[in-house]
Amino acid sequence: MGLLSQGSPLNWEETKKHADHVRKHGILQFLNIYNKVKERQRDVLKWGDEVEYMLVEMDDNNEKVRLVLNGKDVLEILQEKGEKINPNHPTLWRPEYGSYMIEGTPGQPYGGTMSEFNTVEDNMGKRRREAASVLNKNETLLTVTSFPSTLTRNIRHRRGEKVAINVPIFKDKNTPSPFVETFPEDDGEAARAALPDHIYMDAMGFGMGNCCLQVTFQACSISEARYLYDQLATFCPIVMALSAASPFYRGFVSDIDCRWGVISASVDDRTREERGLEPLKNNKFRINKSRYDSIDSYLSCCGEKYNDIELTIDEDINKQLLDAGIDKLLAQHIAHLFIRDPLSLFQEKIHLDDENESDHFENLQSTNWQTMRFKPPPPNSDIGWRVEFRPMEVQLTDFENSAYVVFIVLLTRVILSYKLDFLIPLSKVDENMKVAQKRNAVQEGMFYFRKDAFKGCNPVLDPPSTAQNGVESEAKDGEEFTLMSIDTIINGKEGVFHGLIPMLNCYLENMEVDVDTRCTILNYLKLIKKRASGELMTMAKWMREFAAKHPQYKQDSVITDKINYDLLHNLLETNTNSKEKGKNEIASYDPFKFA
Ligand code: GLU
Ligand code: MG
Repeated sequence: MGLLSQGSPLNWEETKKHADHVRKHGILQFLNIYNKVKERQRDVLKWGDEVEYMLVEMDDNNEKVRLVLNGKDVLEILQEKGEKINPNHPTLWRPEYGSYMIEGTPGQPYGGTMSEFNTVEDNMGKRRREAASVLNKNETLLTVTSFPSTLTRNIRHRRGEKVAINVPIFKDKNTPSPFVETFPEDDGEAARAALPDHIYMDAMGFGMGNCCLQVTFQACSISEARYLYDQLATFCPIVMALSAASPFYRGFVSDIDCRWGVISASVDDRTREERGLEPLKNNKFRINKSRYDSIDSYLSCCGEKYNDIELTIDEDINKQLLDAGIDKLLAQHIAHLFIRDPLSLFQEKIHLDDENESDHFENLQSTNWQTMRFKPPPPNSDIGWRVEFRPMEVQLTDFENSAYVVFIVLLTRVILSYKLDFLIPLSKVDENMKVAQKRNAVQEGMFYFRKDAFKGCNPVLDPPSTAQNGVESEAKDGEEFTLMSIDTIINGKEGVFHGLIPMLNCYLENMEVDVDTRCTILNYLKLIKKRASGELMTMAKWMREFAAKHPQYKQDSVITDKINYDLLHNLLETNTNSKEKGKNEIASYDPFKFA
C-alpha cells in the first residue's frame, strides 16, 4: 500500500508542519521525472500482480480463529531466505497495513509473451507455499478483516474525530429492526456516529486491514499509459463486483459484498470543513471524496469530454505544472492528488535530493488510493510509465486469482490491439461503483456501459494538446452507453453488446499460443464467464450461503466465533483440495457451485 517506510515516524502535529514542504518538493520531484522520461517510447509490456495475505491461527481446541500479529518477522525471514540472497528469487515480499498482513508479488515482472500466462498460477503457488513454510504449526495464510496502528492516529488527528464506517446490515428474518448496537466502553462518540441498521466501525484497521488483488502494467509510452488508465477505469466497478468476496464485517452479515466503501470510510481523513459540514475556515478545500475512492478525472485526450465530475484542485500547483509545460489533463490530475496532506513522514526523510529521489511525490501519490493509479517511473530506473488496476477483491485460491489477473491483462492486450474505446462519462463510472458493492450486484446490478467499443476515439496516436473536443453532444445524449448486467458485459447479448469474453476469444484465435497455455487461459475465462452468468457463485455469495446454513446461525445477521471458525476451516480445506486436484480445474470449485 506504499507509505510503509523505515525510520522515525512523526506524529500528526509534526507531519502537518511539513505538509507544504512535502507538496512543494513532491511537485519538483514529479517535474524532474517527467522532463527526463516524457519522451520515453517503446518500453515493452511488462506486468505483475500483487496478492495480499492474512496470517491466521486456527485454534482448534477453542474453535476460534485468531489473526497472527507477526507479519513483520515472517516478512524478514521470507526476505532473508529469498530476495536478499538471490536477486532472481521468484517471489518478493512486502509489508502491508496490518501486522497480520503480508503482500507477495512475483520476483520479476511478467513479459509480453502469451506463454507467461501459464506461469502465473505456479508463481502464486510458490508464494503461498513459501510463506506457509515459515509459519508455526496451526498458522496459515488466508483473507479476513482487521485492526489499527500509527497511521490510524494520524488519520484521526487530521480529521479531528474518529472515522465513522457505517455498513448497512443484512436484514435477516430475526435481525432486530431497527438494528441498534450499544457500545459499553463508549464515551458517547460511537453512539453519535453509529447509524441505525448499520454495522459501525471506528478505526482505519477495519478498512485497510482488508486484502485485495492488484495488477500493474508497464505501457510502452506515457500516452499509452494514459489511455490504459482511462479505459481500465471503466472496468473497475464491473470487475470488482465480479470478484466480490467480503460480505461480513465485525461479526455481522452486511448488505454489501465488496470492501471498497469500508476502506474508503476507514481512511477518510477529511475534516468537517472539507466534508462541507462547516464553513471553510482553517482548511483550503471542500473535498468530495475520501483519499481511497474512484478516480476523479480521465487522463487521455479521449477521456477529456467525459470528465464530468467536479474536480477539486490546488490552483497554485496546477499553475506551476502548466507553466512547466505539463498539459491540462495531467496537470489537473496531479493538482488534484496534491490537495491532500501527507499522512506520515519520517524524520530522516524530510530533506531530499529532488533530482534523484521521489519520496515526497510518492508520499502523496501512494496515499491517494484510487481505483486506478497512474505511476511515473522512479528516478534513474529502467522502469517505464505504469498503471495499476486496484479494485479487485482477493480470491480464495491461486486458480481464481490467476484467472482474474489473466483476464485483466488480456483485456489490456485486446484494448490496445483493437484500439477499443470503453469510455463513458466519469459520473456514470461513479454510479457503477456504488451499485457494484451491493449484495449480489454481480447478478442483480445494472451498470452503465458503452455499447460499441469499436466506435470511439483513437487515443494513443493523438497527443492531448491536439485533441479535438467536438463530439460533446454525442457523449451527452446517452446514445453511446446503456445499462447492462454483468452477464451482458462479460458474455455479450445479441443486439446490445458484443461481450468481453467473445472479444478475448476472438483475439486469442488470432494469436500464436501453445496448446497448454491456451487451455489454461480458456479455463480462466470459463471461471469469469460462469461467475458473470451466475453459474458459479462469487466468494461473497458462497460465504453468505455457508453462514446461512450453519446450525449456529439464528437468522439474526450475527457471525459467531464458531461460524467464523467453521467458515475459514472450510475455505482452507477447499483451497487444499483445489491444489490436490491439480491446477486449472474448475472441478475443484465444488463449493462454489450452485447445485
Ligand atoms: N488493502 C488495500 C485494498 O484492499 C490496498 C492497499 C494497497 O494499496 O496495497 O484495497
Ligand atoms: Mg498492498
